Amino acid sequence: MSRLYPELQIDLQKIYQNSLETVRRCAESGIRVCGVIKGCSGLPEIARTISRAGVSQLGTSRIEEAVRCREAGISTPFLLLRVPGMSEIPDVVRYFDYSLQSELAAVLRIDRECSARGMHHKVIMMADLGDIREGYWDKEAFIRDCLFIDRQLDGAVLAGIGTNLGCYGAIKPTREKMEELTALADEICRQSGHPLEIISGGASNAYPLVHYHTMPQGINHLRIGDNILLSRGLQTKLNYRDMDYLDMTAFLVHAEVVEVKEKPSYPQGEFALNAYGKLPEFEDRGIRKRALIALGEADVGDVAELLPLNSRIRIIGGSSDYMILDVTECGSDLQPGDLIDFYPEYINMLHLTASGNVRKTFLNEP
Ligand SMILES: *Cc1c(COP(=O)(O)O)cnc(C)c1O
Repeated sequence: MSRLYPELQIDLQKIYQNSLETVRRCAESGIRVCGVIKGCSGLPEIARTISRAGVSQLGTSRIEEAVRCREAGISTPFLLLRVPGMSEIPDVVRYFDYSLQSELAAVLRIDRECSARGMHHKVIMMADLGDIREGYWDKEAFIRDCLFIDRQLDGAVLAGIGTNLGCYGAIKPTREKMEELTALADEICRQSGHPLEIISGGASNAYPLVHYHTMPQGINHLRIGDNILLSRGLQTKLNYRDMDYLDMTAFLVHAEVVEVKEKPSYPQGEFALNAYGKLPEFEDRGIRKRALIALGEADVGDVAELLPLNSRIRIIGGSSDYMILDVTECGSDLQPGDLIDFYPEYINMLHLTASGNVRKTFLNEP
């Protein structure tokens, strides 16, 4: 079969430019960039584009994505972002050069695995500075374990330390938080007698410190995905309006209209529960012109996060297979077979790139 729609159009040149801008500005602050590809499901075409822009590593949370990129011939070092399960460790050392870690038991397993194979794997130990997701809370234990890895292990090599903020606890990566991390690095350096290769300050949400030249000395690494791929998190959600050198339009979705009808906007009959076992609220706006399109939550995740290019189209809702649009004021006489265009948000990009039911086309390979 040959599927035409939904189609996800990916402009590689825009992703390349975003990567170049990010890498260059970070380099001016002494910071190397790990280009994070998990948001686009590690598609090798995108991974290759980002690696050409001079990132130090490619980062992902999923082993399968690194395997796929390796098989596609991408030889950039890989960094595993999700702290691995014990069961994953043989594959971690096989497919990744670096990984983030928060349990000494896992590092010991890595060390054994590497020693058996006569190889090395670099670990970045994570400190939790308040976001209460992954990482050591007890900073004495953190320093002790870092020094133990540095002094006692040979297969597992201490590459450095890192932190992650703003993911679970919504804590802002401030200059003060970054200074807490560099203080930990200084202490480890003082006791071990040598500097760390990597002091990794965070994700895209730490990038404003680079943009405004307020990143403290000592942070020399960031792990950046959203900023390169979409840049919506910073520019539209967190409202940093002066980063417009980063393009937010690299991904575009085309979906097909399958029904257009005038219908009441309020359901009729006895209420039970919808497909998700919920009873949503409905607003009665009278008879409206509604379009169904062949794109649903199975393909895009939360449909409400999509941004229609035509701002007069309103997204009313969706189910796993359909989106429902109010097109009463859309300005054209929509017909079945017409296409509607949307910009995806991060969660939409994640689903669309992973879906086997979405055609992907790549434009402007740099
Ligand atoms: C996903 C992730 C990143 C990258 O996040 P972006 O918001 O896409 O820049 C960095 N670090 C860790 C640990 C992650 O899980």
